[in-house]
Parts: sequence; structure tokens; C-alpha cells
Amino acid sequence: MSDSNCIFCKIAAGEIPSKTLYEDDSFRVILDISPASKGHAIILPKKHAANVYELSEEDASKIFVVAKKVATAMQKVLQCDGMNILQNNGEVAGQSVFHLHVHLIPRYKDDKLTIKWTPG
Ligand code: 5GP
Repeated sequence: MSDSNCIFCKIAAGEIPSKTLYEDDSFRVILDISPASKGHAIILPKKHAANVYELSEEDASKIFVVAKKVATAMQKVLQCDGMNILQNNGEVAGQSVFHLHVHLIPRYKDDKLTIKWTPG
């Protein structure tokens, strides 16, 4: 269920304080400690999964509903011009914390933020 060595398990469970934007039985959404842009948030499942391959079908089916709900509220509050929603699996793909999380990265005109991968 949870991994005693995993910091995101502890944050998701509320054992370590965080700036929480949203919480339900399955997820906690918090502000990222090192934000890529103003309002950068991450969605943490309460049940440990290292990556998308380990994520339960149930959490997989719910996580984008949470992303939509929180992203919509963030857009209204922050008045951002766009939003990147992304999720990294494996070190080579940029994952640094091995408890699955979905990034909600608000984008602003002229924010000069570079998201490394671009199509084409
Ligand atoms: P990844 O590189 O694994 O996709 O993203 C990990 C994210 O977690 C990074 O954006 C990093 O800033 C954030 N992060 C790492 N440790 C903590 C923490 O203790 N608290 C919070 N709020 N964010 C963290």
C-alpha cells in the first residue's frame, strides 16, 4: 500500500506537511517544491506505485479526472495562458522521484520555460 522509504507516500498520507491544493480518498495535489512556473503542482496517488506500469487500473482511471478538475481551478485562479500536464517514467525520461506523480505546469506568455521534448 505505502512504502516507508518513499517521501511522496509520507506527503500523500499527510505525515509530512505540504501545500495541498486538493485531496480526496485516493490522491493529494500539492505545490511542487521547486516550481518550473508559478503554481506548478503535482498529483500524488495515496497508494504507492513507482511508475505508470505499477499504477492500479482504478487509480489510472481516476487520475486524469483529478488533473482536469484541479487544472481547471488553477486556470481560473492563476489566469495562466496554457498548461502542460505531464508524467515521467524512468530516469532516462526525467523521473527523479519514484512514486508516480502527474505534473500540472501552468504556462504564461513569454515564460521562456523549455519543456525538453518537442514533436517533430
Ligand atoms: P520528476 O522529475 O520525478 O518527474 O518530478 C519530481 C518533482 O517532485 C520535481 O518537480 C521536484 O521539484 C518535486 N519534489 C521533489 N521532492 C519534493 C518534496 O519533498 N516536496 C514537494 N512538494 N515536491 C518535491
